[in-house]
Amino acid sequence: MPNTVNTKVYAGRIKEKKIVMKSSSGGAFTAISDYFIERGDAVIAAVYEYDNYNLNYKIIQSKSDRDKAIGSKYMQSRVGNIYNEAYYWLKQNVDKKILFVGMGCQADGFRKFCEMKKIRDRVYIVDIVCHGMPSAKLWKEYAEYIENKYKGKIKYLTFKDKRNGWKNPSALVEIEGKEIMIKDYVNVFYSGCALRPYCYKCKYATIVRKTDLTIGDFWHIEETIPEFFEPEGTSLFLIHTEYGVELFNHIKQRLFYKKSDIKQCWQYNLERPTEKPKEREKFWNDYRRGGIFLIVKKYGLNSLFAKIKYRINKISRK
Ligand SMILES: Cc1cc2nc3c(=O)[nH]c(=O)nc-3n(C[C@H](O)[C@H](O)[C@H](O)COP(=O)(O)OP(=O)(O)OC[C@H]3O[C@@H](n4cnc5c(N)ncnc54)[C@H](O)[C@@H]3O)c2cc1C
Repeated sequence: MPNTVNTKVYAGRIKEKKIVMKSSSGGAFTAISDYFIERGDAVIAAVYEYDNYNLNYKIIQSKSDRDKAIGSKYMQSRVGNIYNEAYYWLKQNVDKKILFVGMGCQADGFRKFCEMKKIRDRVYIVDIVCHGMPSAKLWKEYAEYIENKYKGKIKYLTFKDKRNGWKNPSALVEIEGKEIMIKDYVNVFYSGCALRPYCYKCKYATIVRKTDLTIGDFWHIEETIPEFFEPEGTSLFLIHTEYGVELFNHIKQRLFYKKSDIKQCWQYNLERPTEKPKEREKFWNDYRRGGIFLIVKKYGLNSLFAKIKYRINKISRK
């Protein structure tokens, strides 16, 4: 079992710019997973399935499959039977290791499972800083609503297209070769109302964790380490154990990186879970009343103008 270390903090970006552009932050996930795939080890990560709208954990052994996991997906991912699958994979591949990358709650569940099954020495566990995950059902209904509206299937999905920079990302889908913005869904996500109930009590919204390494966005880097700022985004690395130190040492030649500290990388969800909005109950009552259509109309239009427009529409419908 890896020993814990005093938390070490780094800011980093994978050296290939085109990978930074595809990734949500600075490409930490690709840099770490490359190292495992190149050695013939396995990676476990959540992959979005376009045919059933689900985000399922998979065992991945090639870069082309790994690329399907790149990018943040603002929906609940499904762990399914992946812990057991990892156990049997390790049993069948006795000289191999596994990298698990997932949200704090899922990664810590995997850590406990590995300790119980006595396989902790053969797994490296990376968790992701998290604002909270919205209901998978809501995403599925939204995706179906968009497909009906634009008469076609979603072929591509990104919640963080960085063509206008990391600070001004676009969320979009591709249907029949056309790009369709899905800002209304992202606004619903950022309203905080759609998160799973346990996200508001999340005990992983903290700096010190029991995984080997935590990755996330390096927020406010333009103010705290301006000389290392790049508009395309930078990853945060929080190292918690000897395995995390070993991992970072193996991958650091793939990165531009800089040592940092807990103060420089501070962000809300490293201190406490997202607060439960006062209007959450109303949100779900609205959903039960009017489904996804009402939700995106009411909570997806973020600007004051949109809110006023919504209210006027509402009054004029009475
Ligand atoms: C719902 C959500 C909320 C987030 N909130 C914050 C936040 O508040 N602060 C912050 O610093 N960072 C947050 N992040 C993390 C950040 O957006 C990046 O995902 C992270 O920094 C990794 O980026 P990357 O550039 O290394 O690689 P990327 O290639 O962009 O990361 C892909 C990795 O994320 C995994 N992943 C994507 N979506 C999910 C999901 N829903 N469930 C499980 N795994 C998933 C993929 O399987 C893969 O392992 C959040 C991510 C998600 C999905």
